[in-house]
Amino acid sequence: MADVADNSALTVYRHFIDGQFVDPSGGEWFDSTDPYRNEVWARIPRGGAEDVDRAVAAARRAMTEGPWASMSASARGKIMRRIGDLVAENAERLARIEVRDNGKLFTEMLGQLRYHPEWWYYFAGLADKIEGGVVPIDKPDHFAFTAHEPVGVVGALTAWNSPLIFVAWKCAPALAAGCSVVVKPSEFTSASTLEFAALTREAGLPDGVFNVVAGLGQEAGAAIVDHPDVAKITFTGSDVTGKAIYQQAARTMKRVSLELGGKSPNIIFNDANLDAAIAGAVSGIFAATGQTCIAGSRLLVQNSVRDEVTERLVEMARTARIGDPMLPDTNIGPVTTPPQYRKILDYIDVAKGEGARLIAGGGPSDAGPNFVQPTIFTDVRNDMRIAQEEVFGPVLSIIGFEDEEEAVRIGNDVIYGLAAGVWTQNIGRAHRMARALKAGTVWVNTYRAISYMMPFGGMKHSGLGRESGVEAVREYLETKSVWISTSDAAPGNPFVMR
Ligand code: NAD
Repeated sequence: MADVADNSALTVYRHFIDGQFVDPSGGEWFDSTDPYRNEVWARIPRGGAEDVDRAVAAARRAMTEGPWASMSASARGKIMRRIGDLVAENAERLARIEVRDNGKLFTEMLGQLRYHPEWWYYFAGLADKIEGGVVPIDKPDHFAFTAHEPVGVVGALTAWNSPLIFVAWKCAPALAAGCSVVVKPSEFTSASTLEFAALTREAGLPDGVFNVVAGLGQEAGAAIVDHPDVAKITFTGSDVTGKAIYQQAARTMKRVSLELGGKSPNIIFNDANLDAAIAGAVSGIFAATGQTCIAGSRLLVQNSVRDEVTERLVEMARTARIGDPMLPDTNIGPVTTPPQYRKILDYIDVAKGEGARLIAGGGPSDAGPNFVQPTIFTDVRNDMRIAQEEVFGPVLSIIGFEDEEEAVRIGNDVIYGLAAGVWTQNIGRAHRMARALKAGTVWVNTYRAISYMMPFGGMKHSGLGRESGVEAVREYLETKSVWISTSDAAPGNPFVMR
């Protein structure tokens, strides 16, 4: 599609509906800005209800009349494997596009894109292993079984920090289940999803199975959530938007999966391997410029090692290389969007106003217009806003604790429950902490490990449902219970329920 190697060319994208790239029905496009160069590099179609109608109709047709509807699960799997192969062949090109859109480090995006095919391979393998089962039913003269059916047309709404990984997390299990999808990527990072659409066509995915309507959340996004023929919404984004979508989706009784924000505790005990723990704390908060849902934004450190950990972290924050995300030795790139940039700086002011002590960073960086210095606050109390609310930026809050009990209490004392890290050499403590922390993922002596085979999702206000792993496919299935009487006799008294 687009030749993004040429920096001077402005790439104009179109929606992908029913196997074709098409202009937006309203005839409007909006800009996509490269946050590092601070320049417009692409034009994105501004979708509305009419585009969504067309995409949903195509997706519905694909599930009822098209070849997808009658295709065996094994054949579906073959196409999905081919999608994985094509992403692998195009990983570098797609990673460059994502860096242009979100400013994250090229090394990270390339790593994600090279890993991305595994979701397609894993769920391709799962497609023909979705089994119902015979139930050894307690009623005499009956044969009973369950069957799993695709839930229907899926609306997939994604965030800007890892655009194509979210497409894989949602669409690979959805297609394995036999669904069709309409994706609405973030308005800040739509390009790679539209490029990916071309690969689905090249892989031989039938028309209408995978559709992309780009646009704004309140327009194209809301039209998908409202659409009566969309059966399921799978969403990654902020908790505020997620809760609004959950309410809106209830009107048409949609199934909903939500991957939302976090305020994850990364907990260092005094018996930890401190070199590993400090590296884990840095990666927890400063990777991706802090713009990850799993950021370990609250660093809980046992008081006896707090000074040492703090000093070493400050040194690492001060010496981090801030700059061009394309360069392999850059540690911290720009913030993806101007509103996000302003939000991070506002939170730094809030923390100062609350009495948290600033010990590193604390403002814009001179590396460019959208850069924030890696920032560390200490003397943070867990009831401060800086400890309770998601910043989504390179801002770390250090909180001291005395013992395990206090670490658990502080760790769990937020509305979120997405992830937690624990650093200890004590195996008993590791297990006790893993059990006590209310988080969808607990990492012990590691942070950020993610796999296509490991369920991922949040407890509490961090969301609903799980992505990745075998159970992800269930998010896209309905269970049907079938009863067959094996008796020819009429029931004794038909007015009595049996
Ligand atoms: P966002 O909520 O602003 O937007 C997410 C998506 O929803 C976008 O595509 C947007 O256009 C769309 N949208 C917005 N309003 C809508 C509406 N009313 N109806 C339908 N769609 C609408 O989130 P964001 O700023 O793009 O992403 C950052 C957030 O995502 C952070 O809170 C972060 O924690 C969260 N996140 C969660 C995970 C996870 O897996 N749990 C992963 C990454 C990011």
